[in-house]
Amino acid sequence: MNKYVEAVLEQTKRKNSEQVEFIQAVTEVFESIAPVVERHKKYQDHAILERIVEPERGIIFRVPWQDDKGRFQVNRGFRIQFNSALGPYKGGLRFHPSVNLSIIKFLGFEQIFKNSLTTLPMGGGKGGSDFDPKGKSDNEVMRFCQSFVTELYRHVGADTDVPAGDIGVGGREVGFMFGQYKRIVNESTGVLTGKGLKWGGSLIRSEATGYGAVYFAQEMLTKRGDSMKGKVCAVSGSGNVAQYTVEKINQLGGKVVTLSDSNGTIYDAAGITEEKLAFIMDLKNVRRARIKEYADKYGAQYKEGERPWSVKCDCAFPSATQNEISGEDAKVLVKNGCRLVAEGANMPTDPDGVEVFLKNKVLFGPGKAANAGGVATSGLEMSQNSMRLAWTRAEVDQRLSLIMKSIHENAYAASAEYGDAGNYVLGANIAGFVKVADSMIDQGLV
Ligand code: NDP
Repeated sequence: MNKYVEAVLEQTKRKNSEQVEFIQAVTEVFESIAPVVERHKKYQDHAILERIVEPERGIIFRVPWQDDKGRFQVNRGFRIQFNSALGPYKGGLRFHPSVNLSIIKFLGFEQIFKNSLTTLPMGGGKGGSDFDPKGKSDNEVMRFCQSFVTELYRHVGADTDVPAGDIGVGGREVGFMFGQYKRIVNESTGVLTGKGLKWGGSLIRSEATGYGAVYFAQEMLTKRGDSMKGKVCAVSGSGNVAQYTVEKINQLGGKVVTLSDSNGTIYDAAGITEEKLAFIMDLKNVRRARIKEYADKYGAQYKEGERPWSVKCDCAFPSATQNEISGEDAKVLVKNGCRLVAEGANMPTDPDGVEVFLKNKVLFGPGKAANAGGVATSGLEMSQNSMRLAWTRAEVDQRLSLIMKSIHENAYAASAEYGDAGNYVLGANIAGFVKVADSMIDQGLV
């Protein structure tokens, strides 16, 4: 690796030694961009790497709220405003007990390059809380969201920082946060994306990440004269991203045989059809229950405590969380015939897993490219909010599909330029980095 890259990586590790996920994300990006930095001395001259790993601003705050029994509860809130070279900070909020500074920084760091790839003017940020919405009543979730925004509101804004959903933050939570923001600042602006369709949301935003991941997979296949038709797919998770990944795979003629949640995996060899998906959506979005009920209802296999990666499949769409595919999982997938992986989740494949896929020439779409459809459509929601109009479903879907096509093309072109055509990890990191780094240079020492 280039000496300058190595030195900044070492310094980043030293300064953030507790933040394993953040270091993992930085290491991956730095390994990819080393040849770019080697070729163009300006990045070292302008200390771009030292600056890019340091968030422009980070806010950590107390979120006090009251549960239904009247007891006081306290959680920790985060917002990391990582990089605004390309536009207002943009990135989701995650509510999950595992949330800590490392997780939010890894997600915010990834978001910089992902947003750059979308072709839209958005900087990178991420936030969230260790609050667990699971098992809480609607009123408890509302009180938490109101308290969260009572601090967050002063740091965000339609032209400053525009949060959205992520794990544990869907339409319900965005609604409660938007309501509270409006109440405090007395302004109705596009301060959050993922809003309801009746109050400023965009058609296709809910579908966008899952649809986008499948569009990206389709692009990788089309480039090789193949298609999604007849492909047997393993999908993990059963939340927003997983649900619309299943819907789009079905529409393109593929078959999905697995879904999962944090308790286990269901395997349905007959395929998760549109009707079965409707059951999942009700189970997860309305009743907020466990995936095991699917197995009981449709006679599918249920594997308690397991992930989907041991089944025979052509394609895998990890759509739950980070580091859910290990090197061992990747080997089993390859052995069972998996030829394509498109990451709906952020960093779901660990470094050993990525190595196995690349070594075995599996078509591998990394999260920052494959799941960029979500934030891209958030960008389209921001445009519609600014113009005070709403595009049709077909119009947004067409823009999404064009954006996914250009992300694929740009990532492929960058991988070819740097001598490893079709290595989308390399290509996505390079294409995302160059635009941000050049913009930072243009804007002086900030
Ligand atoms: P949801 O909260 O809607 O769904 C998350 C799903 O993943 C649930 O099925 C959940 O199961 C499962 N899950 C979460 N944590 C774990 C864990 N530690 N182990 C096993 N399963 C887990 O979130 P999304 O679908 O929105 O997000 C999924 C992934 O996609 C995340 O990595 C997110 O960062 C990424 N992403 C999301 C975007 C979006 O637009 N929503 C955009 C780009 C990326 P359970 O219910 O049991 O917790």
